[in-house]
Amino acid sequence: MDFSLTTAQQEIREAILKICAGFGEDYWLERDRDGEFPHAFHRAVAGGGWLGIAMPEAYGGASLGIAEAAVMMQAIAESGAGFSGASAVHMNIFGLNPVVVFGNQQQKERWLPPLIAGKERACFAVTEPNTGLNTRALKTKAEKRGNSYLVSGQKVWISTAQVAEKILLLAKTDAGLTLFYTDLDRNYVEVREIEKMGRHAVDSNQVFFDALPVPEADRIGEEGKGFEYILHGMNPERILIAAELVGLGRCAVARAAKYAKERIVFDRPIGQNQSIQHPLAANWMALEAANLMAFKAASLYDAGKPCGAEANAAKYLAGEACFDACQQAVMTFGGFGYAEEYHVERYLRESFIGRIAPVSRELILCFIAERVLGLPKSY
Ligand SMILES: Cc1cc2nc3c(=O)[nH]c(=O)nc-3n(C[C@H](O)[C@H](O)[C@H](O)COP(=O)(O)OP(=O)(O)OC[C@H]3O[C@@H](n4cnc5c(N)ncnc54)[C@H](O)[C@@H]3O)c2cc1C
Repeated sequence: MDFSLTTAQQEIREAILKICAGFGEDYWLERDRDGEFPHAFHRAVAGGGWLGIAMPEAYGGASLGIAEAAVMMQAIAESGAGFSGASAVHMNIFGLNPVVVFGNQQQKERWLPPLIAGKERACFAVTEPNTGLNTRALKTKAEKRGNSYLVSGQKVWISTAQVAEKILLLAKTDAGLTLFYTDLDRNYVEVREIEKMGRHAVDSNQVFFDALPVPEADRIGEEGKGFEYILHGMNPERILIAAELVGLGRCAVARAAKYAKERIVFDRPIGQNQSIQHPLAANWMALEAANLMAFKAASLYDAGKPCGAEANAAKYLAGEACFDACQQAVMTFGGFGYAEEYHVERYLRESFIGRIAPVSRELILCFIAERVLGLPKSY
């Protein structure tokens, strides 16, 4: 057992941190204020070839594992870019996993190179307003018309739909849930941004489909197998989110510890008080424990072994640890923690995302209770 990063993984971390150094805390504060997508950051990451880190070499990727992708995404969040930076590229790193695994040769040739080059951005459309976490019950319909489908219905919370050219879409066909990857043609799709608590640089949206024509060639795999295909990509996604959450939490703790050394009140640094230093020490421990679970899940996934329990546990643990760390960072800064210019209030707002999406804490607890402990299904 070796818990340290390999030399290659360490090099990935350093290369990403170098790119991120060009996008300092003020860049992210500005993006959070003006709500603009971080195009320059996306271009810089794409320009270095990083979007293809986990994509097959044959299509311009690097064929590395989820562990390497997690190292990359963690470094982005940890640099201070937080979820504003991580979410700007997240979907392109592993979101098209169903295409890689279940797509045909032509689809991979058509779709992967532009995605890896950063020429096309993809959004991921699963959640619906009236079905929530009960994905199997979703209502958006894809009706067969000759050699194509017409998609009608509504999705919600779809991130990056304002800027994406492509959409990975789960919809209902006669045979059951079916997965498509197609053009987000705004003649048939209305995208309405949701005003939200944080991560303003990366939009989330209501998306309305009004008879969007989707060629049969844009269907991934077989009709009725869409949910199965999506499930395949869920564990790697949870691993990436967990790594990002640990990155954001580490950033908050580092910032708070630095401030606690510098801020003098009652003639001594506030960090000399145990009530300031102990919670930060506990935050550090919780984050590093969650990180071990995330990389255990990544190494299982990369070895082709089952990792559902570990990937879910990592997402849960990292979500809680990150939230606690960001909250403690705000408290460490006192009144200044509430001011935008000290950045930690932004981190706290972003940290909520990892507790809610892509799956809630409650449903992870249900998963562990049923699948690991063998308890009866509660819903
Ligand atoms: C910032 C952000 C970005 C997102 N981006 C995307 C995206 O790009 N694409 C996409 O498809 N989705 C996206 N989502 C949606 C996200 O995945 C969902 O919000 C999440 O899965 C929860 O679904 P819901 O909001 O409908 O909650 P609901 O299903 O309505 O659940 C509400 C609450 O009830 C609890 N609950 C529900 N059923 C049970 C049960 N049986 N037992 C115990 N508790 C239960 C839940 O845990 C939760 O706390 C995003 C969400 C956010 C906030």
